Amino acid sequence: MGCSSTVTEWGRVMEQWMLLIVAASAITVGIDASKLGAGKYKLGGMADTSPITWALGVFFLWIVVLPVYLIYRPRLAAASAQAAEGPMKRCAVCDQTYPAEYDRCPVCAKTAA
Ligand SMILES: [Zn+2]
Repeated sequence: MGCSSTVTEWGRVMEQWMLLIVAASAITVGIDASKLGAGKYKLGGMADTSPITWALGVFFLWIVVLPVYLIYRPRLAAASAQAAEGPMKRCAVCDQTYPAEYDRCPVCAKTAA
């Protein structure tokens, strides 16, 4: 009797911890996605998901949506960095992106010298 009640209690504590972890990661993902400007860029597919949708997704489908968010996060971070830097050009020779205000590719300028 004592044993089973301990198990039930432990299960309840675990449930509360899980809920806390899920809620905390949902909030973290929401804030992170919002900072990265999720949904503002035309990245295509799930990469365009809005911060609130990411947060709700993580909350209700933590085990699925959290890894998906982590997969898409680098693309969001790149889009966010690019948006902060302004328009970019892509070098036809080395395929590197560089700020549009440069008149030549900084990578090729270095290797050509
Ligand atoms: Zn180049």
